[in-house]
Amino acid sequence: MDKRLLDILVCPVCKGSLRYHRDVQELVCKADRLAFAVRDDIPVMLEEEARSLREEEEV
Ligand SMILES: [Zn+2]
Repeated sequence: MDKRLLDILVCPVCKGSLRYHRDVQELVCKADRLAFAVRDDIPVMLEEEARSLREEEEV
């Protein structure tokens, strides 16, 4: 995914910064413990589409 795009993306819930997990193609918000999928290089920045991180998952 484009680094510049990554720089301007924020969490739609808290407007905080996101961490890109390249191996699983997800953008993670540490504060909300939500993972947003990146499909075909397009981040799906919808709260209702986001995956909640499990307790044991690293953020
Ligand atoms: Zn957030």
